[in-house]
Amino acid sequence: MISFKSFSRKLMKWYCAEARDLPWRQTRDPYKIWISEIMLQQTTVAAVIPYYKRWVKEFPAVTDVAKSSLQKILKNWQGLGYYARAKNIHKSANIICSEFDCKIPESAEQLKALPGFGPYTRGAVLSIAFDKREPIIDANVRRVVMRLLALKGHADTSKDNDVLLFLDKVMPQNGNNIFNQAMMELGALVCRSKEPICSVCPVKSFCLAYKKDIQEIIPTPKKRILKEINVAIAVIRHNGKFLIQKRASKGLLADLWEFPGGKIEKGESPQDALRREVREELGVNATIQSHLMNLTHFYTQFRAHLNVFDCEIDSLPQPSDSRRWVALNALQKYPMPSGSAKIVEQLLAEK
Ligand code: SF4
Repeated sequence: MISFKSFSRKLMKWYCAEARDLPWRQTRDPYKIWISEIMLQQTTVAAVIPYYKRWVKEFPAVTDVAKSSLQKILKNWQGLGYYARAKNIHKSANIICSEFDCKIPESAEQLKALPGFGPYTRGAVLSIAFDKREPIIDANVRRVVMRLLALKGHADTSKDNDVLLFLDKVMPQNGNNIFNQAMMELGALVCRSKEPICSVCPVKSFCLAYKKDIQEIIPTPKKRILKEINVAIAVIRHNGKFLIQKRASKGLLADLWEFPGGKIEKGESPQDALRREVREELGVNATIQSHLMNLTHFYTQFRAHLNVFDCEIDSLPQPSDSRRWVALNALQKYPMPSGSAKIVEQLLAEK
């Protein structure tokens, strides 16, 4: 029979001795914890550290986010992906400043009404910043509990009722800022998705998967098939400036700036695709001058192969809110998807 108090005591003691010293763990500021948790939802700790440090330097408080333009927010998010999350941070910061006197609300109901505050983010802010007894489930916690309970199958949300029931039993009355972080840290450092290090696990005496020696097959691994897309991109220059366009405000990579171009259709050559895309997007005809580069970039759901060409066009499109001629040195000020940002880097390197 599991002793729930003993479980949380052992886990939290281990965390206090072994936890990594990460920049967002040096604060209880709910604003900074919110930002770090959103960033951590999409990439690794190592990748988040420079983004987080840059962000809190640029926007030390929620008021700085509310006062900033969306373009500046997106620029500081560039490369992290999931740009809708950055837009939600901007929207929520404005609501927090207009309705909550620039203070992050301490109530789950009030947080729930803010854009981007799903169950995980709410739980993280409430427990880590305000020490509320709120369970949180991320991929690490779900995997750890599935193993502790020897729950077989895929690690998906269908397991979350069981996970929540377990967490509710083992969570202490106080110290949830430590408890929740300890569960996630255990998953990251010890109960890893591949090759858990059970020999050093502080809660192995509670673990059913370990007892049955089935921890390696829990959860069932997912097969991930990454879609491949081929894209033709036009670098169009005029008087030392480059033509870029802003993507629509909804959908994939919304509101980011990029070079003209688009997907290569089946049976189409990159050159034909580029001429068609330029005609459709700009209403002008393109002549390809030279092949500039090929780049590959991994996005979350697909891998994009970018075929980049230097082009001339037969008439100049007028600048507008979503179309600009920009000098090479100024291109880096614009928030761009990683593929376009790589092209800019390459152009700057060749200058
Ligand atoms: Fe995970 Fe192994 Fe610890 Fe069980 S004993 S929780 S499988 S690390």
